[in-house]
Amino acid sequence: MNRLSTRQRTLAGEISFAGYGVHGAQPVTLTIGPAAIDSGYLIRRIVGDGQMTNPVSVHYSRVSRTTLCTTLDLGDSVSVATVEHVVSALSGMGVDNALITLDGPECPIMDGSAYPFAEAILNRGVEIQPAQRKFLKILRAVTVRNNDAFAALEPYNGRALDLEIDFDSKVIGRQRMIFDWTPRRYFEDVSRARTFGFVRDAKILRQAGYALGSSLDNSITVHEDKILNPGGLRYEDEFVRHKLLDAIGDLSLGGLPIWGRFRSYKGGHALNAHVLSGLFSSEANYEIVGAEDLPLEFESFDDQPEGLEVHHYLRSVR
Ligand SMILES: [Zn+2]
Repeated sequence: MNRLSTRQRTLAGEISFAGYGVHGAQPVTLTIGPAAIDSGYLIRRIVGDGQMTNPVSVHYSRVSRTTLCTTLDLGDSVSVATVEHVVSALSGMGVDNALITLDGPECPIMDGSAYPFAEAILNRGVEIQPAQRKFLKILRAVTVRNNDAFAALEPYNGRALDLEIDFDSKVIGRQRMIFDWTPRRYFEDVSRARTFGFVRDAKILRQAGYALGSSLDNSITVHEDKILNPGGLRYEDEFVRHKLLDAIGDLSLGGLPIWGRFRSYKGGHALNAHVLSGLFSSEANYEIVGAEDLPLEFESFDDQPEGLEVHHYLRSVR
């Protein structure tokens, strides 16, 4: 076993993105930088006169809304919307600790996927930190339901997601994906999947102040039985892959990577947040374990996307 793959990772340096929010359509700059051992994902905002809010954990207990995207309350009436694609990229690429800074109320939508974030992580490289990785090991199944939709976390010796969607639309229909996580598979098979929406919903959403920044450049747009984007789809089943991307982001709000299996049918941000609340409602549901105490060999952590530079102990981050 490669013991280094059981060590925590952070970014080897800062990466920055300029864009605008898909809902509020406001310009925003987002920077992701290294963070210390055991910090997880921290987030802070530059407000008004250049003041920086105190960094807080990107944690499910701070989720204030799950309408269309995941919004976090940073305290003092400061919030950050659409955080899920950014943390999906961090979690999917196997980054344990990072500090996210943005100067607006919503993360930039970029191309509607997590690829710009994942690609920047790949290009910047990661740094191995001198501490063991920790996981939330699922001990007891937790299921939350809403009519026929559900989300569940179950004991499983690995990291897997089994997700199914069912849309009343010929171009989407029923799609299922079973995904055994490795950073390489996330990068290649998930990160490029874009968010999607229906023309029939767009008018109502805009009147309610959502999707003001959405366009064919950042959303797959479905009208009746057609996809309006000139380039078509990036994956044949891009819709379920995007739901998987969202779930990876939402589940990272548990604070630690999950050792177990996530299952979901017709799920979304709200059920994803509820299943985490359900998990943490009883200490009998989970335990925190170090990577070296997990029963599996760690081939999966060594399955990195091609070109990812891994640096060892460059410096200590505070
Ligand atoms: Zn999404």
